Amino acid sequence: MKLLEMRPHWSVLIREEQYRTIDRGETEPFDIAIPLPAKDRRNPEGTSWGVDLFWERFRCTGCGRCCYTPGAGLYLEKEDTDRICQHLGWSRKRLLGLCRYDRIAKVWALKQPCPFYDSEKKGCTIYPARPLTCTRYPLHPALKEMPYHLAVDAFCPAAREFVKETLGWWIICEANWARILKGMEEGMEEE
Ligand code: SF4
Ligand code: SF4
Repeated sequence: MKLLEMRPHWSVLIREEQYRTIDRGETEPFDIAIPLPAKDRRNPEGTSWGVDLFWERFRCTGCGRCCYTPGAGLYLEKEDTDRICQHLGWSRKRLLGLCRYDRIAKVWALKQPCPFYDSEKKGCTIYPARPLTCTRYPLHPALKEMPYHLAVDAFCPAAREFVKETLGWWIICEANWARILKGMEEGMEEE
């Protein structure tokens, strides 16, 4: 039996089709797993080399979409509110006046578009004190289906470009899988 016919190599799919799927992130909210480890399971404390490599390669265009587009979950941890208030010399009450309370996540979130985004200068006015969620964007919690891989928000154009670049990295794994199948197939034919 031809094993490779049972499981055709996915890279035979038209690359443009894959790109079209990725580009749906422009309008549809979804996350995409990328071929970098969310954590190193051999190290109980977890190393960050996957994340480090991501930031080394990721090229933010500075488009500001993540700051001014409604819908992004700009959650504020307690340490975020403390840091921002200290940075601005504001009371907590004043900062929370720019937030809404998310009853499901039980957390405060900045209203959208973010009140700290300067649309003329196209930048963040509290950049050194910005929330942790902003420092991590477009990285997202790993997908349930692929818990050991980093995931990115497809809404971010630079993330989409990154995903296109890393399609080749998946192919390396798949190519090895195809080689193993081929080897098995040849072994079976010899019998
Ligand atoms: S949406 Fe992505 S590319 Fe645009 S500013 Fe945010 S992180 Fe950078
Ligand atoms: S706090 Fe700054 S980085 Fe975060 S969404 Fe607002 S403007 Fe963007």
